Amino acid sequence: MAERKLIHGGHYEEIKALGQGTWGVVILAKQVQTGREVALKTIKSARAEEGINFTAIREIKLLREFKHENIIELVDVFTTADMAVCLVYEVAETDLEKILKNRSISISLADTKQHLLTLLRAISACHSRWILHRDLKPDNCLFLKDGTMKLADFGLARMYGTPKTRLSPQAITLWYKPPELLLGASEYSSAADVWSTGCIFAELLLRRPFLQGNQTDISQLDTIFQVFGTPNDTNWPDHGVLPLCTRGLTWDSSPPIPFDEIFTAAPSDALSLLRSMLVLDPNKRFTADQCLSHPYFLNEPRPTPKEKLVLSSD
Ligand code: AMP
Repeated sequence: MAERKLIHGGHYEEIKALGQGTWGVVILAKQVQTGREVALKTIKSARAEEGINFTAIREIKLLREFKHENIIELVDVFTTADMAVCLVYEVAETDLEKILKNRSISISLADTKQHLLTLLRAISACHSRWILHRDLKPDNCLFLKDGTMKLADFGLARMYGTPKTRLSPQAITLWYKPPELLLGASEYSSAADVWSTGCIFAELLLRRPFLQGNQTDISQLDTIFQVFGTPNDTNWPDHGVLPLCTRGLTWDSSPPIPFDEIFTAAPSDALSLLRSMLVLDPNKRFTADQCLSHPYFLNEPRPTPKEKLVLSSD
């Protein structure tokens, strides 16, 4: 048998590649001292001459203190000889994107409620510590073998201050971007994460991404405004000060499409919550805590217990 590669001075032993991410390969490894399996994600500095991003490391160290049932555990962080940062995570079995794409897995209304509940709990925990995720999408919602949902890739976008152009290969992320960011708002608020979560909720109900713009911010805005109507002084009084509007970009006025015409199979309590999350004006959007207090979570069906969630078709 071929010898396994040792990593970080023999602390970890490589098992196999798990997948390719935007920042580099993710590998399954064994923590030699404990025998625990972990996922190692190596993040190279944007430019070699910039060296290690120490701000990122400080923030990552902070995240290590952040223990929550629905946030992926950062087990360790170390730097490699070639100035890359290696993040060591607990190992997930699958993610929500894979579940959504696997047509042989059915997602019931009770499953949807469980997914949204755990996602909102994770986001509420982040927001109560003034941490914004900024990149919520189904592939960042990981699941452990026991069905526990774990929010991942959390804070990375912020830590690395990724310019928009460098994120462009991530066209899919665009579909979860709130209108204030698309209009050029330079400051994010927690409402941005709530919009993305609303998009994920809608996707669970529709079983396809809800707002599928075509690669550009303008196309994404068009897609959003076709559904929610164009912004005006009533539905979003402050929109005019955002950069794209001050530069003179305008849209022909159009009305919103009622949600019950789009989500024909969804119960009314689900749509009531969805309407409170997907609001053009970020100031009028529910907070994660307000979402968690919505009657939707008390009504039948009860959320599927995590151990009863179907994660794969085999
Ligand atoms: P990412 O860089 O987060 O996009 O990750 C790239 C791929 O690596 C993902 O699509 C997953 O298949 C895999 N991956 C990332 N993190 C984990 C983890 N904690 N456990 C298992 N697989 C992971």
